[in-house]
Amino acid sequence: MQVSRSAATEFRGRVFAVLVLLLAGIVSIEQASAAEPSGPRVLLIHDMEGLSGQNDPYTFLYGHPAYPKGQALLIADVNAVIAGLFAGGAASVVVADGHGSGNPGPDILVDQLDKRASLVSRDQPFDAYLDLAEQGAFDAVAVVGMHCKSGSGGFAAHTYTIGMKLLVNGHSITETELVGLLYGRAGIPVIFASGDDRLAADLKTMPWLQYVTTKKAKSAADAELYPVAQVHEAMRKQAKLAVQRLKSATVMKPEGPLQIAVRAVPPANMRWLKVMPGVNYQDETVSFVATDMADAYRRMRPIVTALSFSFSDAELTAFKAQPNASDLEFKGMEELYRRWFAAESGEAATVAAPTAPAAKTQYHGFH
Ligand SMILES: [Zn+2]
Repeated sequence: MQVSRSAATEFRGRVFAVLVLLLAGIVSIEQASAAEPSGPRVLLIHDMEGLSGQNDPYTFLYGHPAYPKGQALLIADVNAVIAGLFAGGAASVVVADGHGSGNPGPDILVDQLDKRASLVSRDQPFDAYLDLAEQGAFDAVAVVGMHCKSGSGGFAAHTYTIGMKLLVNGHSITETELVGLLYGRAGIPVIFASGDDRLAADLKTMPWLQYVTTKKAKSAADAELYPVAQVHEAMRKQAKLAVQRLKSATVMKPEGPLQIAVRAVPPANMRWLKVMPGVNYQDETVSFVATDMADAYRRMRPIVTALSFSFSDAELTAFKAQPNASDLEFKGMEELYRRWFAAESGEAATVAAPTAPAAKTQYHGFH
């Protein structure tokens, strides 16, 4: 896809604006230094499938006994990258959750996070890929613990969710490219990424990236590990370089309307959308034209939701194998009846499930 605009244009623009104001006597040096950070402000988005020292896919599944090990691997990789970003001259590093394990708390072990960095925390749900991508909010993005796209043969290979490919102008993209395109729209380049060797191959499309290979994929569920201390050393070095070379990074901003396609691949399928009127469906793929990447992303998400209904094939198979499955199925039907009668009786307040899980109060990216 076509990309344009030099990286760091925004950063240079702000520095120039402050110089003009200083010359005009409008702001003092103190005000200028208070208003302007001394270096780039970096947003670090983490995922959890491309971590160093990780070859067990259950380390990124919240609720599994292996998940705490995943959290320990995650904070170690994230802190190594943060150290490099600051060594390269970053003024600030803000961390956002791009994984969304289902943990009601953050995947990041906040008490172990490098004290110079902070985790994004909001009292309303937000999307780390879309809602932080505002013009002038950050100077660069670093992505950590990423995975290759569906079909690339890497560890935990997927794109956005299980069983789909995302095509932009006919090219199947990785989530790292998706982040690049969404932040590129706001003029912000992705400068650093880490993940397995298959993601390294996928990201030939982003040659300006400082990339650290964390492991060699053997399959979607296994990897040959590299010495973690060496990977962390490489992360510190490459993240430092990424900040130092920010000016040569490319902002991904494709021109014109985008041809977007969401393609289902096993174990998912598109049967819910195949026969739906008004849907442009062909060969397990739903296509549309988007005005830009944010428009593409917003319109992609309901298609992904419909695609994820097909996950129930696997979930129901496991559910029905349980000895009390028919009792639970009956209880589910009872609850549906309860909501039906409440709604038809005008008792809207009682329609909500009394057993719904407690709402989260803090959000860090995906939930
Ligand atoms: Zn993830």
